[in-house]
Amino acid sequence: MLWHLKLATLVVTFLHVSLAPAFGQTCNDYSNENIEEESPTQRVGTALSDRDQAIQWSQPADFTEILHFIGDADQLAEHEGIDFIYSDRAVAQVSVRSAADGKVVYVRRGCPQSYPFEPNTEKRGCGGDWGNHIVIVHPNGLFTRYAHLQPDSIQVHVGQKILRGEELAKMGNSGRSDTRHLHFELGVAIQLNSCEPAQSFKYIYNPAVYLGWDDLL
Ligand SMILES: [Zn+2]
Repeated sequence: MLWHLKLATLVVTFLHVSLAPAFGQTCNDYSNENIEEESPTQRVGTALSDRDQAIQWSQPADFTEILHFIGDADQLAEHEGIDFIYSDRAVAQVSVRSAADGKVVYVRRGCPQSYPFEPNTEKRGCGGDWGNHIVIVHPNGLFTRYAHLQPDSIQVHVGQKILRGEELAKMGNSGRSDTRHLHFELGVAIQLNSCEPAQSFKYIYNPAVYLGWDDLL
């Protein structure tokens, strides 16, 4: 009996080791059309004193309407980022751009979307509700997330260096999205595994406050 248990443990250990990416391994992206992964709601951070090195920011997308960040410090956020909605149907494609210089650390592809200007009906949980999305780390240690991207529009891969204003993808309606928009998050992460499904940040912040976008408050 004991021997069997030990053997089972060995087999499980072996499977775990062989399926999990080796330590330090990175993937260009993560793509799986067959799962709708879950990600915990993110908590609003407080002090940013160790991450206040000034870097230059710019708005990540043009918009016709804004939905604001909603959340109180040290609580789970009610709306974890700013939505840049672009509802003018005459404009076929809207660019999503990096808000600052940085490096791509996570890319989620493979999430479908239905018609761009109605609530998405296809796999709303794909990408942990974010749909197709990209995460970039910036020189001051802050991370930005660009969510609900149009399928097959992502132009970058993990490890790629990015300049502020550089186009990353096109605005879309994938994941838990009700119309074409960019959901933009600012946060900190302990470690993101580029070979795994979508992952939450450790803390998030109101991008408008921290980036000084007073007109978006
Ligand atoms: Zn949003």
